[in-house]
Amino acid sequence: MRPSGRLHLGNWLGALKNWVKLQESYECFYCAVDVHALTTIKDREEAQSIQGNIYDMVLDWLAAGINPDKSIIFVQSSVPDVLTLQSLLSMITPLGWLMRVPTFKERIRQMDTTEDSVSYGLVGYPVLMTSDIILYKADTVPVGEDQLPHIELAREIVRRFNNIFEPIFPEPKAVLTEAPMIFGTDGFSKMSKSLDNHLELAATPEETLKRLRPAYTDPNRLRKTDPGNPEVCNIYKLHNYFNPSQLTKIHDECSNALRGCVDCKIELGEKINESLEEFRYRRKIFEGQPNFVNDVLESGAAKARLIASETIDEVRSCMGL
Ligand code: ADP
Repeated sequence: MRPSGRLHLGNWLGALKNWVKLQESYECFYCAVDVHALTTIKDREEAQSIQGNIYDMVLDWLAAGINPDKSIIFVQSSVPDVLTLQSLLSMITPLGWLMRVPTFKERIRQMDTTEDSVSYGLVGYPVLMTSDIILYKADTVPVGEDQLPHIELAREIVRRFNNIFEPIFPEPKAVLTEAPMIFGTDGFSKMSKSLDNHLELAATPEETLKRLRPAYTDPNRLRKTDPGNPEVCNIYKLHNYFNPSQLTKIHDECSNALRGCVDCKIELGEKINESLEEFRYRRKIFEGQPNFVNDVLESGAAKARLIASETIDEVRSCMGL
């Protein structure tokens, strides 16, 4: 995950909860990809914020239940071998493959730049991602649908490497995680920090209620006495995740103008707060242990470096270095 600071409900429902579950059946590597974060920075200030963002994000991971005794948790740049591997893989990766990746074209559009002025690092983003995966000989990568082209590219790079040199890498396969798309408090766009429509996991219960207060509901419902349409209301959708036992009742009451949006949002806020109680409690405890996150990351990096150095030795020998 790119270190973007404190996580929100979208990250939790769309990724983190699943990561916690995967620990039961896989040996997992969870990595804060700080070098990837550098591919799109605008200035030094943004680069300087990466460290703090790593801390906040990893604290959220740990509070959510990512367990350092089960999984390897680390920061990408603390395993420098990943950069060696990226560099070596870039020798066998055709530029055309990278330019055709749909996310590349989309990024260029988002950044309002051109193919000529885009950085070499951004073009090589999927090569670095491939290195993140195969450095640890990972065979399975949990991703959302939007990441499938990257995994396909990783497989192609692996095939090419294995063909030219020796078959030392497993072809990583994607496991599509059933990730819901969570909309933000504006009611119609993806919950995202950059749109300021998010609900932070680490917020206080009061902040959560306050952020929900102006949230959009059914735009056609102007008065409490108007019947509402829950199907178009994001608050109703969120009840689905946090208050499922009351869903039918809420649907009926809203459709028949028996419940107001304000009360509906308060009820949702309380349910969200309840669901996050354990998360917030754990986060506070971990926050009170100033070295905890660093210790976890250091010990994770030590384990990751050990595996990485074995892979790099193999790669160097295959490539005649
Ligand atoms: P992205 O660049 O995809 O927004 P982020 O770093 O913001 O990535 O999010 C990290 C993880 O959280 C990704 O797996 C992403 O798919 C997931 N995620 C982010 N926002 C949402 C959302 N609104 N709904 C569901 N999942 C989300």
